[in-house]
Amino acid sequence: MRVGIVGGGITGLVAGYRLKQAGAEVTIFEAAGRCGGPIHTLRKDGYLAEFGPNTILETSPHITTLIHDLGLESRKVYADPTAKNRYIVRNGALIPLPSSPAAFATSSLFSISAKLRLLREPFVPKATQDESLADFVRRRLGQEFLDYAINPFVAGIYAGDPEQLSTEQAFPKLFALEQKYGSLIKGQIKSAKARRKTGEVSKQRARMFSFDDGLQVLIDALAAALADSIKLSTSVERIVRDSIWKVTDSTGATHEFDTLILTAPAHKLAALDIPNVDLSLLREIVYPPVTSLVLGFNKVDVGHALDGFGMLIPEVEGFNILGTVFSSSLFPNRAPNGNVTMTTYIGGMRQPKHALLSDSELLDLAKADLRKLLNIKGEPSFIHRTTYEKAIPQYMMGYGKYKQLMSDIETNNPGLYFAGNFRNGISVGDSITGATELINVQCGMYNVQ
Ligand SMILES: Cc1cc2nc3c(=O)[nH]c(=O)nc-3n(C[C@H](O)[C@H](O)[C@H](O)COP(=O)(O)OP(=O)(O)OC[C@H]3O[C@@H](n4cnc5c(N)ncnc54)[C@H](O)[C@@H]3O)c2cc1C
Repeated sequence: MRVGIVGGGITGLVAGYRLKQAGAEVTIFEAAGRCGGPIHTLRKDGYLAEFGPNTILETSPHITTLIHDLGLESRKVYADPTAKNRYIVRNGALIPLPSSPAAFATSSLFSISAKLRLLREPFVPKATQDESLADFVRRRLGQEFLDYAINPFVAGIYAGDPEQLSTEQAFPKLFALEQKYGSLIKGQIKSAKARRKTGEVSKQRARMFSFDDGLQVLIDALAAALADSIKLSTSVERIVRDSIWKVTDSTGATHEFDTLILTAPAHKLAALDIPNVDLSLLREIVYPPVTSLVLGFNKVDVGHALDGFGMLIPEVEGFNILGTVFSSSLFPNRAPNGNVTMTTYIGGMRQPKHALLSDSELLDLAKADLRKLLNIKGEPSFIHRTTYEKAIPQYMMGYGKYKQLMSDIETNNPGLYFAGNFRNGISVGDSITGATELINVQCGMYNVQ
């Protein structure tokens, strides 16, 4: 079987790797000069900078098996146990997010009335249709929980706006908990038992990892395993369905495939020329700009212990950054001795224009917030900026119509498949799981765990 894969991000690479193992003849077309999309690491001057993601959550056995099969177990590094500590900013100060019912009861992150409001949660009736995440949380948990828990988390995961994200599409497990159990609190307890049977782990409990040289290690291993199957700096421009799939790439060459998997971002897929397959609707999917700014500081200049995963900033607090990962606290060897590395995310749906500021404006804006929040005194000794003009697809209200379009096209065009963060969930783990399940279930080619 000949399989063509459009896009060499983590989805395309994992799909290609599994297909190749199953004996398929695989060709991956990657528009850029390297694979991995936003998964990209730089080691320089003793610092390690991640351009995009810093961590992967080990939520599915597919992720664990992939690392094992690639022989990367010895290079995998789990986050320091202090990473369980997550700070949320309230009244300009960093407050640990409570991680147990006892800590919640005594935490200063929420007022007494917000805590008491939670007691009503099991009695709130369930929704009869999809609603925005903000409406869902306000209805079940109250405004303060939305402002100081959900809003900052959504900024950290999606760079998104809870008023616009669809609960059903962006947080399907949360939506299902309410639908199935009528209550999030009851559902959390009961679904934990169900997960124990499948080997899945909830995002709250999953272990977080990277590799000794950053997430690039995963991309390098996949790319090495697929070396002769990858065409770099080669985008797919035209696809024609005959009795087989005929692909024309940017060099003008044509290729023939029995199966074609589309993993390029939705806005790029919308531009593909495929007679009788109209993907133009996918252009509507919103991808806000995000900048990731990695800064290194002398430890003595930082007035906070950085003893945790990082800090998330609720919109109501009025800062200009979305949050900061304490990168060198998570994993060893991310900064020279006596220094620290932190990764700050800027822009997203909250303040899209901030992501596109000039280098000096962006740095001033980030430094001003970091000085206030982390009491930083000196200047950064390391600076690395990456801006994604179209960063992360937003699963907004009505997103179901895009998923339906993809399903309909798959039904009407045997051998054509869609996979990627615009369909299977936006995290790296979701992409690995989505790609593996596509090969297992849809293509029926390879039965990996
Ligand atoms: C700043 C940032 C921080 C993030 N942080 C985290 C995190 O901490 N943890 C986490 O789990 N996730 C995180 N994510 C999300 C995660 O990194 C992505 O969702 C995931 O990597 C997407 O993988 P993908 O393969 O679906 O898409 P992509 O990686 O976008 O791959 C698609 C590929 O298609 C290529 N392409 C485009 N057009 C064509 C064409 N016509 N022909 C051929 N190729 C084409 C592109 O060049 C690209 O390489 C983050 C994302 C960003 C942007």
